[in-house]
Amino acid sequence: MAFIVQKFGGTSVASTERIRNVARRVAKWCAAGHQVVVVPSAMSGETNRLIGLARELQEEPDPRELDVVASTGEQVTVGLLSMALMAQGVKARSYTGWQVKVLTDSAFTKARILGIDEQRLREDLAAGIVPVVAGFQGIDAHGNLTTLGRGGSDTSAVALAAALKADECLIFTDVDGVYTTDPRIVPEARRLATITFEEMLEMASLGSKVLQIRSVEFAGKYRVRLRVLSSLTDPDLPVAVEAQSGTLITFEEDEQMEQAVISGIAFARDEAKLTVTGVPDRPGIAYAILGPVGDANIDVDMIIQNASVDGLTDFSFTVPRGDYSRALQILENVKSHIGARAILGDNRICKVSMVGVGMRTHAGIASRMFRTLSEEGINIQMISTSEIKISAVVDEKYLELAVRVLHKAFDLEQGAA
Ligand code: ASP
Ligand code: MG
Repeated sequence: MAFIVQKFGGTSVASTERIRNVARRVAKWCAAGHQVVVVPSAMSGETNRLIGLARELQEEPDPRELDVVASTGEQVTVGLLSMALMAQGVKARSYTGWQVKVLTDSAFTKARILGIDEQRLREDLAAGIVPVVAGFQGIDAHGNLTTLGRGGSDTSAVALAAALKADECLIFTDVDGVYTTDPRIVPEARRLATITFEEMLEMASLGSKVLQIRSVEFAGKYRVRLRVLSSLTDPDLPVAVEAQSGTLITFEEDEQMEQAVISGIAFARDEAKLTVTGVPDRPGIAYAILGPVGDANIDVDMIIQNASVDGLTDFSFTVPRGDYSRALQILENVKSHIGARAILGDNRICKVSMVGVGMRTHAGIASRMFRTLSEEGINIQMISTSEIKISAVVDEKYLELAVRVLHKAFDLEQGAA
C-alpha cells in the first residue's frame, strides 16, 4: 500500500463527465489498496471567468476581494468530485483550504504556503475516507482567504504531499509528461521517463508550463517524489501501468539510470534586449544603469558588459518584452547622467536554452551548440551559462529553426545525447 496525493488540473475536471472519470480513476487506486488525497483545480476557464467578473467592476481589483472571488472555482470542484466519488461507492469528504487549514502569508493573489495542519486529513485517511482538498487557496494568520498565484494547485498538491509525507505526488494533466522540447515545434520531441528536479526547475523557468515553478521548488526542498502524467487516458488503465507512466521528477543523487548529457531544450519568446553604448568604464556604472531598472520592478535576465576600448564600454541586458518600453524610457532618462553615447533596443529576440545535469561532467556542449547554430547562419547575440544550462539569445525569427536543429544535433529524439 502506498500513500498518494493526486492533483487534477482544470481540463481534467472541465465537465461533470470528466469529474466522473476522475472519480473512477481515484476509486481504482483505492480499490488497489492505496490511500489517496485528491486536489482538484477549478474547471478549466473558470478562474479566468471569475477574474474577468472582478475586472468588470474594478479596473485593478482589490487583491483581498479578488482572492475571495477567484478561490470559489476550486470550492465547486471539491464538492462535485466528492459527490462523484460517493456515487462510485468511495467514502469522500471535501475541504476548502481554510478548513484544512492551509496557512499562507498575506500576499494576496500570490501567497506562499507557510504550513499545513494535516490532523483532520490523517483522521479521514485512518477512517478510510478520501479527503478532497481545494487547490490554489489558503488562509492567512488574520483569517483572510488567499490564493497562491495562477497554476497554484500544483503547489497545493506538493505541499500536502510534503506535510503528509506521501510516497508520491501525481500531477494529472492534459499532457502525458515532460518532453525534450515543445512537440508543436519538434514533432519528434520525446517524453522523458525521468528528469531531475534541478533540470525541471530550469525547464519550468524557461517557459515550459507543465508545472507551476513554485511546486517544483517545493518538491526539491521537501524531497517530494513528483510525477506528471495524463488524465486523458482510459480511466480503467491498470494501476500498475498508470503508476509508471508520465515523467518522474527525480533527485540527481538518486538517479540510477545512465543520464543523458542534455535532457531538453527550453525557450522563451517575449524577451527584449537593451544596449547602452559608449559608457565610461568605471566603478558604479552597472549600478547606475541597472539600479533604476530594478527600482521599477523590471526583472533583468542576461547581462553582458564588453571589454573596454579607450575607457569606453558597451552594456547589454535582457528584460521581459512587456517591460521593454518602460526600460527604454528609464535608460533614456539616465543616459546623460551616465555619459552614454546611445541607447539601442531590440524587442524581436528570443532565448533558446539547453538543459542537462550531464553538463557538469561533459565538456564541449557549448561549442557544439554554437557550431550547430552557426551552420544554420543563426547569429548568437548573447550567451549565458549555469552549471546545467546554456542559453543563447537569437533573433525571434530563428526560434523554431534553432530549437529543431539543436534537438537533432544532440540526438534528443533518440534519448541519448
Ligand atoms: N484554478 C487556478 C488557475 O487557473 C489554479 C490552478 O489551476 O492550478 O490558475
Ligand atoms: Mg496547471
